[in-house]
Amino acid sequence: MTMNKEAALVVFSGGQDSTTCLFWAKKHFKEVYALSFIYGQKHVKEVELARGIAERAGVHFHAMDVSFIGHLGKNSLTDTSIVMDEEKPEGSFPNTFVPGRNLFFLSIAAVYAREHGISHLVTGVSQTDFSGYPDCRDSFIKSLNVTLNLAMDEQFVIHTPLMWIDKAQTWALADELGVLDLIRNETLTCYNGVQGDGCGHCPACKLRREGLEKYLSSKNKLSAFYY
Ligand code: ZN
Repeated sequence: MTMNKEAALVVFSGGQDSTTCLFWAKKHFKEVYALSFIYGQKHVKEVELARGIAERAGVHFHAMDVSFIGHLGKNSLTDTSIVMDEEKPEGSFPNTFVPGRNLFFLSIAAVYAREHGISHLVTGVSQTDFSGYPDCRDSFIKSLNVTLNLAMDEQFVIHTPLMWIDKAQTWALADELGVLDLIRNETLTCYNGVQGDGCGHCPACKLRREGLEKYLSSKNKLSAFYY
């Protein structure tokens, strides 16, 4: 198959990280596709939110149902009977960990990309703030990239613009891309399903807010409009 080297597919959840990646991809590629996954997450509205952001960004959007992932193992993002860990337990994964999630997402994304002749994949994983999730690490992404190329005899390139930057630097990147306000107001990162600044106390909100405060104070804007 002839690959379109000017197109990229973003694994897109409508959260802060993948939205930043979406606009990063728009800057670097002529044509951008956003692929969202329905995997049994409690807050299904995040998919509709993702669709809205993709529309605003003017990129292709597709939502794919992969709910089987939620049935494979127990975790608090898909199982309403499990109370979410607000802190990482000593010596184990937080129960927000969905085993194999990025393995599934990126593998499916690669097959989808191949069908559309796209060789560039973009994901918002970060080793810096990886919360103990092993499939956010650079070694995993590099290994999977090799595996996908061998599996399909293609030359995929997985881009990870956020791999080595922290949340404050991710906000800085959003600002540089001219979408800080859009990302702050329109995206959903919160484990409790609250859009924008979120519930304020779940681990995702804490990480997001601390990053934003750090970035804004470094810009000396904190007192002006944050609270
Ligand atoms: Zn929250």
